[in-house]
Amino acid sequence: MINNLASEANRLSGQIIELCYHCHKCTAGCPVVEAMEYGPDQLLRMVALDQHDAVLRSRDIWLCASCYTCSTRCPNDIDISAVMDALRKLAVAGGYPAGERDALLFHKLFLGVVQRLGRSHEAAMLGLFKILSRVPIYRDVGSGVGLILRGKVPILPKQSGAAPEVRQIFRRSK
Ligand code: SF4
Ligand code: SF4
Repeated sequence: MINNLASEANRLSGQIIELCYHCHKCTAGCPVVEAMEYGPDQLLRMVALDQHDAVLRSRDIWLCASCYTCSTRCPNDIDISAVMDALRKLAVAGGYPAGERDALLFHKLFLGVVQRLGRSHEAAMLGLFKILSRVPIYRDVGSGVGLILRGKVPILPKQSGAAPEVRQIFRRSK
């Protein structure tokens, strides 16, 4: 049970969301705001107002791509990306279903591939995602083929030389 959403989000993220004066710069630069319900600026306000359910059920916390654009634009140096990360942790800990379909599966697959290879491998991750999420296999296949043909995405996975250290990080974080 979360007593106060703002203090929990501040504690987990190391931020002070009350510093936000809603200048909207974060939301104006967010590359996925069009797909969000509220956007980072409004979401921070909802956290400050302790709107647990709406925030932790929101698809916004799962759509956030952790790109740090908002964090670099904030005039008050609030790392909004870290706050989003904290909100995802609180949503999982509180048993809230991910507001965006298959978002949790996507995160788990990404971490699973990084844990095994020591780096990301998009082709393996997306192949597994399509099978497990039952997203039609042919959807987006054109852009994927284009990336492979241009050498942007290798077909075969290659283990990083730092894979043992990365696995150790995973073990320690558990
Ligand atoms: S950029 Fe910073 S101060 Fe401005 S609305 Fe976003 S979080 Fe608040
Ligand atoms: S870190 Fe998340 S909320 Fe911030 S700009 Fe990137 S996608 Fe948007």
